[in-house]
Amino acid sequence: MYSNLSEEDLKVIKEVTLSLLEDEEGIDPEVARRTVDIILRREAIDEEIAGELGVDPREVRKVLYKLHERGVVSFRKERRKEYRYPVYAWSLNLREVLRRGLEIKERELEDVERALTNDMSHPMFHCGNEECPVLSFEEAMECEFRCPNCGEMLQEVDMTEERRRMEELAEELKEEIRRLRELRERLGGSGPD
Ligand SMILES: [Zn+2]
Repeated sequence: MYSNLSEEDLKVIKEVTLSLLEDEEGIDPEVARRTVDIILRREAIDEEIAGELGVDPREVRKVLYKLHERGVVSFRKERRKEYRYPVYAWSLNLREVLRRGLEIKERELEDVERALTNDMSHPMFHCGNEECPVLSFEEAMECEFRCPNCGEMLQEVDMTEERRRMEELAEELKEEIRRLRELRERLGGSGPD
């Protein structure tokens, strides 16, 4: 289907597609994974996918409908001689997957960078109890450095570790974004859609 894409590229696209279903309930993750694996490579009829997977076609359709809601799959109504009724042939829109994936990663990166420049460049205070909130200097001052929740003394939080973790996350996201953009570039004008 896409001769200029490697197995590794397809794996990336598959992961992005599955990440779009992450918060969906009522979807069998294994059915989702294997359905995406098929429509990533070729157009396929839902019943054929179900047959290949050995599952109820309804399970496959649930996945396809959710992906359709996300705008990353398209279908064509078809008449085939082996079916008495019209069937639907589904395919994954790779470019749309990359566009959605990039949108999400770019937003995540923005959030991380905002946290690094705003929240983490100021000292924060906490009492040490997990269920209690972390407070800014102003908030800590207002309650005279006692936790408003449990009354313990507030201590300045050492943000070094958290900062390092966030910086690493930002680098990972930049790398993923670079990869997705490069893939989108390579996908270019070729392909069936
Ligand atoms: Zn507390």
